[in-house]
Amino acid sequence: MGYRFELITGPMSCGKTEELLRRIRRLIIAKKKVKVISPSIDTRAKGDYIESRNGLWLDTVKVKNAMEILDVVEKADDIIAIDELQFFDEKIVEVVKVLLSKGKRIIGTGLELDFKGEPFGSMPQLLAYADKVDKLTAICMKCGSEYAVRTQRLIDGKPAGKDSPLIMIGADETYEARCLDCWELPETTSQAEKNIAFMSVSKKR
Ligand SMILES: [Zn+2]
Repeated sequence: MGYRFELITGPMSCGKTEELLRRIRRLIIAKKKVKVISPSIDTRAKGDYIESRNGLWLDTVKVKNAMEILDVVEKADDIIAIDELQFFDEKIVEVVKVLLSKGKRIIGTGLELDFKGEPFGSMPQLLAYADKVDKLTAICMKCGSEYAVRTQRLIDGKPAGKDSPLIMIGADETYEARCLDCWELPETTSQAEKNIAFMSVSKKR
């Protein structure tokens, strides 16, 4: 029987996607039919596949919102793998429950905390419903500690403030894993940094 809803979580660069791909490879060896789904907001992947930082890749179905997952899941699919769960709208919780009621097995990944150190999207509910949770740690990019549990957001190389906009992928900002001692969250972002953030958002549109 086994676990029905597994969740792999942790900060940026902790190896969530690598762990997901490792589990999927084993399921493929076991001749299971796996469907991999990711939100179309995730621009890290170049096409219709997810690529982990160690170069492994897998075909994925991109969906615009949580409900669309129900449209793409087929009867023959045994396992539904969902990457970047934190980016889905709140309906993702219902969608997961529907899939479980249909006998599907789910393996998901997601950032549990945003750069402000606050719960990200529907991750708190999903963590509660999951019957197996693995919290991975990353290497702190500042001090080298093996216990990086936060995602540091940097705009123009400086720690982004509490008031900087939440979702912006790629462009002039970077994210890195940090331990609790090295993670920084200034009260405000300077006007110059806000302008850079605004420019990188406009470029995307
Ligand atoms: Zn550190």
